[in-house]
Amino acid sequence: MKEKNLEKENYFKNLIKELKTNNMLTLGERKELFKTYVKEACQKFKISIPYINFYTIEHFPDGEDGHFHPDECKICVDEDKLKYLKEEKIKELAYHEVAHAFRGDHDKDFWNIMKNGMDSD
Ligand SMILES: [Zn+2]
Ligand SMILES: [Zn+2]
Repeated sequence: MKEKNLEKENYFKNLIKELKTNNMLTLGERKELFKTYVKEACQKFKISIPYINFYTIEHFPDGEDGHFHPDECKICVDEDKLKYLKEEKIKELAYHEVAHAFRGDHDKDFWNIMKNGMDSD
């Protein structure tokens, strides 16, 4: 019983630590993190790095976190959403948008491209 309580205590301690770490990132740092992951993804895929624009929610009428403009090779990100994403989610978003350079749709091929990029070194 005592062990269970300790387990619980550690769980919440870690959760608080995680939340603090997450919230300690400023928006500027989040933007830099996103750019870093986009760069990393592009290097893995061997494509040129797209322009990255940060907009507020009005630019995203469909409620998406970001999107890719293939004609302009440009990624737009909702900075209001970026404020609340965990680092892992910021990375996912970066790889998601870069994967759109290859596939416009969210089909099976799209998710495979994204996943392969994230899993490779
Ligand atoms: Zn998408
Ligand atoms: Zn846009």
